[in-house]
Amino acid sequence: MKEYQSMTKQELQEEYQAVLAQYRDYQAKGLKLDMSRGKPCTEQLELSNGLLSQNQYIGENGEDSRNYGLLPGMPQARRFFAELLGVEENEVIVGGNSSLTLMYYMIDMGWRVGFADSDHPWRTEEKLKFLCPVPGYDRHFAITEYFDFEMIPVPMHEDGPDMNLVEQLAADPSVKGIWCVPLYSNPDGYIYSAETVRRLASMKTGAPDFKIIWDDAYCVHHLTDELCSVPGILAECKKYGTQDRPLLVCSTSKVTFPGAGVAALAASEANIRHILAQMAPMAISFDKMNQMRHVSFLKNKAGVLEHMKKHRAILEPKFELIKKAFAQQLSPCGSIARWTDPKGGYFISLYVMDGCAKRVVQLCKEAGVVLTPAGSAYPYGNDPQDHHLRIAPSYPTVAELEQASQLLCVSVRLACLEKLLQA
Ligand code: PMP
Repeated sequence: MKEYQSMTKQELQEEYQAVLAQYRDYQAKGLKLDMSRGKPCTEQLELSNGLLSQNQYIGENGEDSRNYGLLPGMPQARRFFAELLGVEENEVIVGGNSSLTLMYYMIDMGWRVGFADSDHPWRTEEKLKFLCPVPGYDRHFAITEYFDFEMIPVPMHEDGPDMNLVEQLAADPSVKGIWCVPLYSNPDGYIYSAETVRRLASMKTGAPDFKIIWDDAYCVHHLTDELCSVPGILAECKKYGTQDRPLLVCSTSKVTFPGAGVAALAASEANIRHILAQMAPMAISFDKMNQMRHVSFLKNKAGVLEHMKKHRAILEPKFELIKKAFAQQLSPCGSIARWTDPKGGYFISLYVMDGCAKRVVQLCKEAGVVLTPAGSAYPYGNDPQDHHLRIAPSYPTVAELEQASQLLCVSVRLACLEKLLQA
């Protein structure tokens, strides 16, 4: 087949009619599928049912997890997350069910009272800004939007955010921090390089209490035999005396049960002391019984990695199926689309011709497949090029994905043909 961009108007017209007919066929099937969020499928949830029969409630030093107390978490749970995050046990607070809640709380804390290295709360300043690598995680952006930060997009590269730009922007004292998903980034699946980590740790910042929100949501979510990793940001920051800069989080949401897992926060000892003092009026303790269940069930990082192999066995064929559909259906059309090839995480980014992403989402919707709204991976939902789509392969069945990916490809072709015909 000839590539779209080298077709004559006549050829484009013919191709348009052919693809439109295919699209109508899909519409007639009355599909009803949801590829909009990165939720584990039921089969993945079943992998963790063993959690429900864990009944070890007494901690290693006799701590009774059924009772109040131990705000920083059960000691074995702190150690468990310390190993996952590559930090020390006393640098960890094990929280409740959600890392997003912890991130929200961190932004709230900076805004209301500041951190160990703050000389005033952020709220006392006229204008607040936050760096947002794009495309990124929409719920991160929702937090900084809620607190009225001006969100500054920074392009993501395969080795992390554009560090020349980050360094330049971070020199502004009103820039208070940056959102980071260092491993298998949401949504591109990119991996921060050692050099990116070094520059984030060592860069000069205008704000003395600049914060790196280091969201290690996908720290064990490998999809290949290569267990990729990123150097620890806290250890790197210690080398440069910036140890109060990073706030690390992760959770077992996509290891066991989203919404009923365990989340943890790690930071410098000074920040941990500060955060615990601030948390004191809010909570006597988090759900330590669930912390115990998780540690009994998963044991340690090696146990988690074993468990994650079972997730991979379910997820990998779904990712492969989508990439195969893209390669077969979109590659022959030329440069109308490109996509990422993640080695882990939950998403694939599909980049279509500028100005076509919203139309693709609309076409899919009108044929019964719900995608994440175009632009949602950008602050304020604004993808200036209208070119990015976040593909979440985990939830639908393989049979459903088969249909959905074919429809998606037809919709991409149709949207791009419409655009080319308008030109
Ligand atoms: N961070 C990232 C990057 C995510 O993709 C997700 C889930 N989609 C979360 C955090 C949510 O984590 P939790 O369930 O622990 O709140």
